[in-house]
Amino acid sequence: RTITTDMGTLTQEIEKFAKDKKVEIDTLKIREEYRKDFLGNVSHELKTPLFTVQGYILTLLDGAVNDKNVRKKYLQRANKGVERLIYIVKDLDLITKLEVGDLHLELEDFDIVEVIQGVFDLLEMKAEKKNITLTFDIEDQGSVYVHADREKIQQVVTNLIVNSIKYGHENGTTEVSVENLIKNKVIVRVTDNGEGIAKQHIPRLFERFYRVDKSGSRSEGGSGLGLAIVKHIIEAHNEKIYVESVLDVGSEFSFTLEKAKRKEE
Ligand code: ADP
Repeated sequence: RTITTDMGTLTQEIEKFAKDKKVEIDTLKIREEYRKDFLGNVSHELKTPLFTVQGYILTLLDGAVNDKNVRKKYLQRANKGVERLIYIVKDLDLITKLEVGDLHLELEDFDIVEVIQGVFDLLEMKAEKKNITLTFDIEDQGSVYVHADREKIQQVVTNLIVNSIKYGHENGTTEVSVENLIKNKVIVRVTDNGEGIAKQHIPRLFERFYRVDKSGSRSEGGSGLGLAIVKHIIEAHNEKIYVESVLDVGSEFSFTLEKAKRKEE
């Protein structure tokens, strides 16, 4: 049985498949649309860094390889491009797992303050490059134990702080806070005084590949998956994520977590 790539034929094949398997045709069509859309976005995201890397390699092959200094510089740049590709592929891998619901949460009690401090240490250099000050505000100094998947929450915190730096202004600030909410919840806020987001974009921010700046020409462009990953992780925990933002003023992303059932330290 041949399936050509012609869409008409493919649709007929899907319909037949649906009839044979007695599955809802609409679901399949939606899935097919989703798959096409996803693949289109993926190839688009990979194209820019791939062409960049190829550019450096071609220049090297064209003779630059004979100049010792240029050679090193171009190889380093090509390597940067490859690092970016790896980063995108890792995000793609994660979002795929999250979207098919193949996510296994490893819940444990841990100190969210310590996790945030760890992320600060990792991102310190990145912030310094834009002279952005990272500050941490916790109500009662010390530890705040939550019950969640430590590694995944670390990813959430990382993605939000990375964004606050990426879309923050030079000499700006990013403030992270952990506050007690009513009952057994805490709320973590990541606030910046950066470029902010216009109202009309806010409802779509958490969609995969959605970007306010469509050109993608931003030098530090990520994968466009950061916030989609954040949303999936928080929702898998049955928690909530919020965003408040004003264009040219700044943004605040916040999410809730369950407190660990243990005596307060
Ligand atoms: P990206 O890889 O483009 O950063 P994300 O999913 O992390 O992808 O974010 C989606 C879009 O939301 C970004 O392209 C940016 O336009 C906007 N955005 C996210 N965080 C912030 C922020 N702190 N300030 C301003 N804009 C932001």
